[in-house]
Amino acid sequence: MKIAVYPGSFDPVTNGHLDIIGRGAGLFDKLVVAVARNPRKKPLFTLEERILMLKESAKRLSNVEISCFNGLIVDFACERQAAAILRGLRALSDFEYEFQMASVNRKIGNIETVFMMTGNEYAYLSSSAVKEVASFGGCVKGFVPQNVVRMLMEKCKQ
Ligand code: ADP
Repeated sequence: MKIAVYPGSFDPVTNGHLDIIGRGAGLFDKLVVAVARNPRKKPLFTLEERILMLKESAKRLSNVEISCFNGLIVDFACERQAAAILRGLRALSDFEYEFQMASVNRKIGNIETVFMMTGNEYAYLSSSAVKEVASFGGCVKGFVPQNVVRMLMEKCKQ
């Protein structure tokens, strides 16, 4: 059974992430979405909230599991006996960082990273842009699933 892990902050999950999850689930027998605890990034949503939003958004995909990790992704991948780490690539600007991470992870964890090109309609989409728009009361409907629109509106009221 070919397992892949798809790590990220998912603060919050966007339609761009969901596109990668859907396509990744079609490539591997099982896809484990791994939410990084990431306290240093000072996420807007708690780990529990980020997991909940992902679970709700990906509930129709039976071979997708939502989990979380602390520490090195290579340790989590090894624990889950994953054959690969899955990452999405958007603009050229993603390349340098992803190239470095993939090289480091192959060196320390002997694991391959598989990249999936963003869907054209999501190439501009990032969690930070969504949070920025929502914080000023802008409409984020086409960017994130409906359950996340609700969570963002609540968060921005606080
Ligand atoms: P991280 O903090 O690890 O970058 P993110 O949640 O921002 O976490 O992203 C997780 C993964 O999803 C990364 O591989 C990122 O490049 C990818 N990703 C984010 N947004 C998109 C998008 N719109 N299209 C394709 N991939 C994306």
